[in-house]
Amino acid sequence: AKWVYTFGDGQAEGRADMKNLLGGKGANLAEMASLGLPVPAGFTITTELCTYFYDNGRTYPAELEAQVDAALAHVEQVMDAKFGDPDNPLLVSVRSGARASMPGMMDTVLNLGLNDTTVEGLIKRSEDARFGYDSYRRFVQMYGNVVLGIEGSHFDQLLEEMKDDRGVDLDTELKAEDWKELVGAFKALVERETGQPFPETPKQQMWGAIGAVFGSWMNKRAITYRKLHDIPASWGTAVNVQAMVFGNMGDDCATGVAFTRDPATGENAFYGEYLVNAQGEDVVAGIRTPQNISLAGKARNQSPLPAMEEVMPELYRQLDGIRERLERHYTDMQDMEFTIQQNKLWMLQTRTGKRTSAASLKIAVDMAREGLIDQTTAISRIDPAQLDQLLHPMLDPKADKQVLTKGLPASPGAASGQIVFTADEAEDWAKRGLKVILARVETSPEDIGGMHVAEGILTSRGGMTSHAAVVARGMGTPCVAGAGGIRIDASAKTLSVGGTVLKEGDTLTLDGATGEVIAGEVPTIQPELTGDFGTLMEWVDKIRRLKVRTNAETPEDARTAIKFGAQGIGLCRTEHMFFDPKRITHMRQMILADSEANRRAALEHLLPYQRQDFVELFTIMRGLPVTVRLLDPPLHEFLPHGDAEVAEVAQAAGTTPDEVRRAAAQLSELNPMLGHRGCRLGITYPEIYEMQAQAIFEAAIEVSKTDGETVVPEIMIPLVGTQAEFDMMKAVIDQVAQKVFAASGTTLTYQVGTMIELPRAALVADAIAKNAEFFSFGTNDLTQTTLGMSRDDSGPFLEVYRDKGIYEKDPFASIDVDGVGALVELAAEKGRKTRPDIKLGICGEHGGDPASVHFCESVNLDYVSCSPYRVPIARLAAAQAVL
Ligand code: ADP
Ligand code: MG
Ligand code: MG
Repeated sequence: AKWVYTFGDGQAEGRADMKNLLGGKGANLAEMASLGLPVPAGFTITTELCTYFYDNGRTYPAELEAQVDAALAHVEQVMDAKFGDPDNPLLVSVRSGARASMPGMMDTVLNLGLNDTTVEGLIKRSEDARFGYDSYRRFVQMYGNVVLGIEGSHFDQLLEEMKDDRGVDLDTELKAEDWKELVGAFKALVERETGQPFPETPKQQMWGAIGAVFGSWMNKRAITYRKLHDIPASWGTAVNVQAMVFGNMGDDCATGVAFTRDPATGENAFYGEYLVNAQGEDVVAGIRTPQNISLAGKARNQSPLPAMEEVMPELYRQLDGIRERLERHYTDMQDMEFTIQQNKLWMLQTRTGKRTSAASLKIAVDMAREGLIDQTTAISRIDPAQLDQLLHPMLDPKADKQVLTKGLPASPGAASGQIVFTADEAEDWAKRGLKVILARVETSPEDIGGMHVAEGILTSRGGMTSHAAVVARGMGTPCVAGAGGIRIDASAKTLSVGGTVLKEGDTLTLDGATGEVIAGEVPTIQPELTGDFGTLMEWVDKIRRLKVRTNAETPEDARTAIKFGAQGIGLCRTEHMFFDPKRITHMRQMILADSEANRRAALEHLLPYQRQDFVELFTIMRGLPVTVRLLDPPLHEFLPHGDAEVAEVAQAAGTTPDEVRRAAAQLSELNPMLGHRGCRLGITYPEIYEMQAQAIFEAAIEVSKTDGETVVPEIMIPLVGTQAEFDMMKAVIDQVAQKVFAASGTTLTYQVGTMIELPRAALVADAIAKNAEFFSFGTNDLTQTTLGMSRDDSGPFLEVYRDKGIYEKDPFASIDVDGVGALVELAAEKGRKTRPDIKLGICGEHGGDPASVHFCESVNLDYVSCSPYRVPIARLAAAQAVL
């Protein structure tokens, strides 16, 4: 088998579309090499080898060594240097690279191939002993830490001791001999810690690093990251071995990270950061404050430092050319890593750049307008979950706020929460239901879990491309990075800024769009839904087939949903309308009544309220369809609590408190979810549904008259399991309709349908459809009743189920396609057989879940209905479902 693919010198054995085999980094290095871009030569060991490694007790196939040797020889030839050569040594980096970028993987080892002999060759070539020994000590430290697992702080401590001993403050003040001595100390440390001498031969070093990359695929960090991002363990990682180029050989050297467009705003401006005379991850690690690449970036960040565009104009021009070239080639925003060695530019990585939700939207819409991609591609590029963030609140610009300091606007959005200082604490606090802001000097991959649960992330060090910034943007978490005015003391659990000292648990607000760090909590406002968002939604609406309605019962929700583009109400839950203090007493009086007459008396009081509710809703909805579900929950949910409430009800009903208590006790059920609820209420007390139907018809007639819009109410009967139940309830409603029409001298078109939320209803859907004009799949209850799992009690064991892979996703969040989905499909089929034009929709939580929307498209439902904030997400998901 072929395990190794080479690249460099204008050619490559791999290609960008070979990510599965070569990993993202390897595939794109190959592609860049083939495009003729300056890429240091190297080779990639495939992800298949990783799989082989784990399938075979962590061993390699026999032929691997020869393939690696041949590839290495190719690199030596291209780079005109030899691995381990005392005069002209080739040095390499060993870099991991999975299909998807994975922060949990082994860190890159640089300068590999140095030992006491080759370092002399490096010094001879560079004519710089200090550079030679500095590179050597970096290598021993990195290798010791990353490959051999020795705590980095042990090395740092030796370095500090060296500086103390020499009486200097800065690394840059140390001389070549000092570094040389430190190399010795580092190696002694390695030997003490591991019981083995530091590997001297470059080949030994290389195989050690390769083994560490494959080993890191199963480390805790990587496993956690895969779990959070649904990456299967079977993918494996590749290893890239690549000739070193040096950004730290002097002031004509540099290293940097750049984006072809601004990853925070999406603006079509070159954006990035670099450091002169630096190596590797120095930019990302936040050790020195990086400089901006372009003047545009410098202006945006109000940076006092000169931009690369000014300092190295010719190299900037070259890099800008590559930027254009790569963007046109990949037709998406790229995130590039580069190094400049003695005024020569080298490309070390390119990949699709992570971006904020706002940037994602702007880039997709802009690129479609520029003709780089078409509209459908633009639509497919937006993750519906990302869209969610754009719909959420931002800080109210008019609110008073006490700005403590400003950092970099690393990931937009507003977040308030209580300060914690470690990722572990963030996780603990979040588990207890608290909202936290994670404050760190800088973050590292170990912090992923805590970053994930934090409302916002604040760092005092690092740039726009620091770990915190990149990860936060990926997660959609607001982040202010590099707030240099803040001093964080994690051990004392304090954060001081200016004269203010904040402690763990104090409340802080971050504005990730401006970089402001604000004391206390600040009120928020809704974002505007115009501009690029509006444009994308227009494109989306052109191609989707599914209609999108909303679940709403309050005027406010209905208005929000209309603003978000809802095409009607798919579920108006009438029970929520009875909790108002003015109504609840009558409601209680009604449910506790001991006779039909008393019940009707109480319902009389409720009728005008209920009618007014519908007048408001119908007015807001302006002729769009509104599905009203008649009373559904078990009556005990409305019971009075405490003596005062009991007395109030007794008075209204003209009985004694004891009598009320007795009646209330009778309503208690062992399993209310499967008890006296849904249409069972209407069957036992038809007068309840009569009142509701009357309110609906009277309101619809009133609004039709005053508004001139025709209101077509859709009345929905809940929890039906048999045709007889449905038919009886429909008869009650039809009778009320006739009465109202006669009294008002007008008629009205209306529909009566049912919710399908019991397996039995799905199984006999053909019978129910004889008289039902629509079905709405109530997938919340249908999931509970199909799985035999209570949504409110299943949390703890469902988590175990998901860990064990029994259910891949939470079936209450994303529809269980095989089980619940099969029932939906069956009921839809049976319903259509009886009544070909039957209207079919879904109104559970699933209506706003993109995967479930895809399912609804696949079974050809007419609409999905979801909460107002999810309406745009469902519109987008519906469009993506037909692509
Ligand atoms: P990550 O996956 O964390 O981005 P990389 O493998 O890209 O890790 O390595 C991190 C950094 O190390 C690169 O951005 C680059 O600056 C430096 N680096 C890696 N390989 C080389 C090389 N061959 N020559 C010079 N620098 C390198
Ligand atoms: Mg890294
Ligand atoms: Mg990289």
